[in-house]
Amino acid sequence: MMLVVSDLGRREELIEDKTMRKIFPTISFALLLAGLFPHSAAAFKYTPFWLFNVQTDPVCGDGILDVGEDCDDGAVASATCDSDCSLVECGDGTANLGAGELCDDGNRVGGDGCSADCSRGYVVVEGDVMVRLRSPAEPRYSGSPPVELWEDGFVPLMFHADVTLAQELRMWTAIDEWEEVAPVNFIPRTNESNYLLIIPNAKYNWSFVGVVPDTDSCGDGHPAGCQAVMITSWGPGFRIEHELGHALGMTHEQKRPDRNRYIAICDGSEPDICEDNIQKLCFGGSSDGQPCDPDKGNEDCPNEPGTDDDAWCRDYVDQFELGPDIEPIGHYDFGSVMHYGQCDFSIGCPNGQPCTSCGAETIQTRFPNWRFQDVIGQRNYLSVGDAHGMADLYGCGDGTLDPLEECEGSVTGCDDDALGCDSLCRCMYPDGSCGNGVVEGDEECDGSEIAGCGQYVLGCDSGCKCDYIDWW
Ligand SMILES: [Zn+2]
Repeated sequence: MMLVVSDLGRREELIEDKTMRKIFPTISFALLLAGLFPHSAAAFKYTPFWLFNVQTDPVCGDGILDVGEDCDDGAVASATCDSDCSLVECGDGTANLGAGELCDDGNRVGGDGCSADCSRGYVVVEGDVMVRLRSPAEPRYSGSPPVELWEDGFVPLMFHADVTLAQELRMWTAIDEWEEVAPVNFIPRTNESNYLLIIPNAKYNWSFVGVVPDTDSCGDGHPAGCQAVMITSWGPGFRIEHELGHALGMTHEQKRPDRNRYIAICDGSEPDICEDNIQKLCFGGSSDGQPCDPDKGNEDCPNEPGTDDDAWCRDYVDQFELGPDIEPIGHYDFGSVMHYGQCDFSIGCPNGQPCTSCGAETIQTRFPNWRFQDVIGQRNYLSVGDAHGMADLYGCGDGTLDPLEECEGSVTGCDDDALGCDSLCRCMYPDGSCGNGVVEGDEECDGSEIAGCGQYVLGCDSGCKCDYIDWW
């Protein structure tokens, strides 16, 4: 037996010493415990660095690159390293969810239960919406299927083992945002067949829209009804709230069939505005993400020699498709957390990622709504329209008191001192001030209670007056 000492910045050295291998970790730990070092921080400061790099045998997942390992990121698996410490590669038999592989059956053949690109035949459209491909060679999706909602607003969910405690807390904060405005309730999954699995991902945020039965998107150990939600943006900003909006059944605001009255999209119908701003990139294969010329077809995206790793030139115009069969709720909402940003899929941005200033807009607000050019795509709050849309989606306003609603019009489960039921189906109680969610006295509105305001209202200002679009 030999003692393996990993040296910082160098390959491992082997020291022939049977005895030290066993006693070194024991001694160092015992010294710390015995208090021979006055403070643990000082102990770390003055203890020889190699004392803490002692290991006994090569261990995959310990963060140390051992002989025989391609990688070791210190976790069970990462976006670049499989759980067996081999590099991520579709076809190696190890599905890596963090890297975007939804399956891996050990080959790169499609039609055998796992697609050739390990995506299970799904593709991300509109930046973050997971849908099934119409065909592998045609990265478009077939219309907007009817959205299936979570029964009675209850959404069972689980967290992937790689989710940290801080991430889990962040997720619950995002969940609170929706639960406060709509009759929905996320619950820890017990044995429900359809549920969400929250998975950390190195590159992507994406979700299916509503309940999509049998996606089989969660990997080994999960039933087919498990529905993955990938999150990479755990920091501030309402990216998670946006993904939860999808998971609850919302699509992107700019897919509304009436959107062309409010915004101009570079969909070819307005070539003088910004058609040239939309990305045209190779999709898949070794040239994934490289600019290409659609007029040259797939030839502009070369295949990787010796593999079936085909890539094709993708015109991202399809990311802006209308949803003619989508049923809009409420007025067009420039401030929706579900609206695209003005530079999404722009040639001025990295592949598929939003940017703050690219100088090559792909969406432009129309007259007289120019003031919203910098509003669209906001990820800082749920808008009034988001709140009303989600409440409406889950039955608020249908005259039936649903399980998660506090009240519904005159049908109420409120206490006797309630003033009534607000438009989000929550009981209103008096405290006599602007901001209590109750329209009182000379208030035109209060918080999300804007039913008394007319069309084109942006929301309710801090003085409880309706805030309208400026028609200059
Ligand atoms: Zn989205």
